[in-house]
Amino acid sequence: FDSMHARSELHLVKEAIADPNKIVVIQTAPAVRVALGEGFGYEPGSFLEGKMVGALRALGADYVVDTNFGADLTIMEEASELVKRLQTGGPIPQFTSCCPAWVRFAEIYFPELLPQISSTRSCIAMEAAVAKTYFAEAKGLNPKQIVSISVNPCTAKKAETKRPEQNAAARYYNDEEIGMDTDISITTREFIQWIKDENLDFESIEESKFDELIGQETGASIIFGNTGGVMEAAMRTAYKLVTGQEPPPVALTHLEDVRGMQGVKEATVELGDLTLKVAVAHGGKNIRDFLNDLKTSGKHYDFIEMMACPGGCIGGGGQPRTKLPQAVKTKEARIAGLYDADANYEFRSSFESPEIKAIYKNFLGEPLAHKPHELLHTTYVDRSEILGVRKDVVPETCPTSPKFKK
Ligand code: SF4
Repeated sequence: FDSMHARSELHLVKEAIADPNKIVVIQTAPAVRVALGEGFGYEPGSFLEGKMVGALRALGADYVVDTNFGADLTIMEEASELVKRLQTGGPIPQFTSCCPAWVRFAEIYFPELLPQISSTRSCIAMEAAVAKTYFAEAKGLNPKQIVSISVNPCTAKKAETKRPEQNAAARYYNDEEIGMDTDISITTREFIQWIKDENLDFESIEESKFDELIGQETGASIIFGNTGGVMEAAMRTAYKLVTGQEPPPVALTHLEDVRGMQGVKEATVELGDLTLKVAVAHGGKNIRDFLNDLKTSGKHYDFIEMMACPGGCIGGGGQPRTKLPQAVKTKEARIAGLYDADANYEFRSSFESPEIKAIYKNFLGEPLAHKPHELLHTTYVDRSEILGVRKDVVPETCPTSPKFKK
């Protein structure tokens, strides 16, 4: 990603907050709440969701919503897509799509895999799209006035938000003035800087809750923030889709084989009578080595999670920095913070969330239906020409589209 896209846009956030004609809607990614405290003397992994939301309200946000709701939406679509691929013969394995650095890496170096990458948009992109549509309509807000801001651990998200296809809300309204779904993306470190710039006393910030409608989280969505979390979350909902039974068995609410910092992990998952082979890779070198091995090993997988940062998003480039050897312990503490939270949620699976049920019933219809296709799915582009090798562009990779080719 070029340096322009990695530049801080914190000044734009402050301008939006100061503008009385703007409605500022801020979403926070799962990994932020277990790292934010490090900027104020807390131990890594301290789960500070209430203070995080309270800080954003104190800083002037009109609405604070949860990227975790977008993560549950991602799982509803991605697990449905996986089951559809399994039922219709592929292409398999399906790869996850929520890490923009992995997606761009595949677009440049492994474009032949693009039809296998899930067409579901990232959790942040989904949350932003429904903020300017479903949420705006329900709250009576003018989407042209909304400034949609994402606080997240990821420097690559700054570039993802600017990809031309990231304007589903504008296409939904057929109105270009609505702009991009996510207007501004700032990192956890920039958020910490913002709190310090405004001289907020972090200790005395009053805890607060997310706004409802697109603010509910589940155990499945909170573990999106670490390696193996998307896989485990997807398996919990895939179990329901395949077997019709709920809740998922204990093995799927603690899928041990895909947890932890090992660079590549594999598991065999039983979804009733269906047995899936899954894999998880995190960190650029592990991803590259895994894909190169896959070319020659002939190994079969059904579903593969890819995260570019070691440890997943808890180790993102926008998180508070720690030096080796403490960095690994810090990541493990952040991961523990997310899994501890997961174990204590009333709802552990995306399909159980009452707000998820409501958005499908009242707005989206069914997963993979027309409206989710328009708002929650995306396409990828073969960018291998950057390497000087021209390959055919893959214009349409969403299997919910009539133009989709296997
Ligand atoms: Fe961003 Fe890293 Fe998470 Fe990928 S793994 S979405 S690059 S923070």
